[in-house]
Amino acid sequence: MKIRKYVLLHLVLLVFISLQINSCAIFPKKTDVDSSTTSTDEIEDPSDVNSEVKVKLSCEEFTIASIKKDNFHIIDGDIMTPPTLLPIGFGHATTDIGQLWDLKCNNDENICIPYVFDSSFKYKKNAKEAMKWWSDNTIIRFIKQSDEEKHLIFVTDSTICKYACSYVGSLGVPQKININKTNRVGNIAHELGHALGLYHMQARADRDDFVVIKPNCATNTNFKFAELRNENAQDRNAYDLYSIMHYSDNLLSGCLSLKDGVRERLNLPDGIPGQRDSLSAQDIQVVNELYSEVLNDIKVDCPDA
Ligand SMILES: [Zn+2]
Repeated sequence: MKIRKYVLLHLVLLVFISLQINSCAIFPKKTDVDSSTTSTDEIEDPSDVNSEVKVKLSCEEFTIASIKKDNFHIIDGDIMTPPTLLPIGFGHATTDIGQLWDLKCNNDENICIPYVFDSSFKYKKNAKEAMKWWSDNTIIRFIKQSDEEKHLIFVTDSTICKYACSYVGSLGVPQKININKTNRVGNIAHELGHALGLYHMQARADRDDFVVIKPNCATNTNFKFAELRNENAQDRNAYDLYSIMHYSDNLLSGCLSLKDGVRERLNLPDGIPGQRDSLSAQDIQVVNELYSEVLNDIKVDCPDA
């Protein structure tokens, strides 16, 4: 009798352990879900869209959906913009020289961007590496100081955005770059690309040759891609699917996807577009071109209306 009880107890114990293992496989712990579903893109949740904001692309105004915060909006996934109109550029790079950083380094050959790490900032090592990606390859240099009026403040603040976000170009005052859930070196390099004056590659006027935006995504989300274009724009260089400023294929269940046949025609590897492993040759070229113009004081004027 004792042996039967003993066997029965073990059987119950085995069934219990087996159920635990199964339930773990079917219902992973919350933390497992979080880590496995963390996006490599820096986008905010489109369901958070709660407002519209007017932006100025080159010399034209557009109204796009946004996530409205106290004193700024988030547009196009991860771009912060003040509520007042900003003279922002078109395509994927600003053309407004006033929106670019203009502190010449002592050698007169580089542009220096002052930065500080806020006490809240958690990803110093990755941020330093991301800054190195840009400074190793372009005429941009980052200097740690806050004496200059214009400077970047790295923060980790979930009230600004959940993933990562930045203003485009220089605001002319101390400005935040927020690195939160998406904090890999490549993600930070993407946000720095915004801070340097770049928008997203898929905002270019010729993007329809390469990607497809689902119509409902253009109206129901803050990725109102269709209106982030200016047919008169002169995008710099060629459309670059390898750019660190391009969003990934199949973003938001196909809101943004590669056009049929493009992957095969251009022999694109997996992970392109949307890579965050390095700057592309063109990312480097565009930033060097933009800031060479700053160094040479070339002005870009709006055409007469
Ligand atoms: Zn972005």
